[in-house]
Amino acid sequence: MTRTSRDFTARTEFEREWMQENTWCDRCNLADLGLSSPKEYEENGKIYIEGKCKKCGDSVRSEVTEPEAG
Ligand SMILES: [Zn+2]
Repeated sequence: MTRTSRDFTARTEFEREWMQENTWCDRCNLADLGLSSPKEYEENGKIYIEGKCKKCGDSVRSEVTEPEAG
């Protein structure tokens, strides 16, 4: 498995807010709780954002879907 860091701060404010708000926490079993300390990386051709659930502090990861090139 290869994991490549990406620059989350290079995204627009709108994208950052949207990604930090549209989350799913397995531990809380709830959506859209929000996450803090977001980090973005690429793994096996997919882009993920990872942070901590604002409610329980557990690790939260979401796949980022982007429009296909071309
Ligand atoms: Zn949680």
